[in-house]
Amino acid sequence: MKITDIKIQIINIPLVTTFKTALRSVDQIENIIITITTDTDLIGFGGAAPTAVITGETTASICSAIEHIRDSIIGMNLIDSENIFQRLNNCIIGNSSAKAAVDMAIYDLLAKELKVPLYQLLGGMTNTLETDVTVSLDTPEKMIRESKEKLSAGFNILKIKVGGDPELDINRLQLVRESIGREARIRIDANQGWSAKEAVLVGKELERKGVDIELMEQPVAARDFKGLRFVRENVSMPVYADESIFSPQNALDLVSMDAVDGLNIKLMKCGGIYNALKIAAIAETAGIPCMIGSMMESHISVTAAAHLAVSRSIIKRYDLDAPLFCSINPAVGGITYKGSRVCFSNAPGLGIESIG
Ligand SMILES: [Mg+2]
Repeated sequence: MKITDIKIQIINIPLVTTFKTALRSVDQIENIIITITTDTDLIGFGGAAPTAVITGETTASICSAIEHIRDSIIGMNLIDSENIFQRLNNCIIGNSSAKAAVDMAIYDLLAKELKVPLYQLLGGMTNTLETDVTVSLDTPEKMIRESKEKLSAGFNILKIKVGGDPELDINRLQLVRESIGREARIRIDANQGWSAKEAVLVGKELERKGVDIELMEQPVAARDFKGLRFVRENVSMPVYADESIFSPQNALDLVSMDAVDGLNIKLMKCGGIYNALKIAAIAETAGIPCMIGSMMESHISVTAAAHLAVSRSIIKRYDLDAPLFCSINPAVGGITYKGSRVCFSNAPGLGIESIG
């Protein structure tokens, strides 16, 4: 099966509610959807989300990079997938989200050729997962209301965005915990919003006040690996890297520094499933678990992330609620949500039949 073309489409998706983190606030997203055609009837689907403040990519840069990648891999045979992935990763530096879109469409085709769902091709550990749900950074009152709404909608794990003023963050989390009781799990994500000392202050204070937190994600700046280690050494709750982990090389550096307790893998950061599997292997070898997350992405690319998420035993936590923020689903097929559960069809590949 040879690659004959890659078609690119841009879609605008208004969000159901504003998404606010320490880095940005968005009401609408653009996603890039690609279709890889082959010399057979099979076509592969992929998607990318521009997140300039995290990956450095815009819609225009992703489209240009995909055109560049297309010229490098066109005519290649999927039986040579290792060569395709090498070419994909080496034909252009960076541009991880553009690479991820092409990478997942190739995996979609590889699984379709074998007539199995992608998660089975990747390892097939299980076929269901429970995602957390994001609570945006806002006033304590709004965050309490949103937390309660999400728990009554059937979610059991909240991912609460913090990273503003440390004192206010402690207050926010204490009030949310008091108002929802002890049952639900709370993950906190500062999106690089604290210094290492602030993160330790927040973590210790939450522990002293008995505010139960499952894990703290990306407390400090992406490049500050020593800061991550300082936080990890000084708080009891597990510390996860997100914006710090873009590549297998980052994973190797973070685990050799003992800087984190876990890694949040996102396809848009690492360039797709090919590299995500390497990161997962490094984490597993180092004895730390992984989480699979996403940017503000539509069903298409999150379907790929979900297939990866259930395929490997070292991937233990899931942060795949982004499609629930989207007011439209551009995919026919792919994952579906039942409350907090993400469900898969038995259709081959990503299970996406067409783009609506
Ligand atoms: Mg994060």
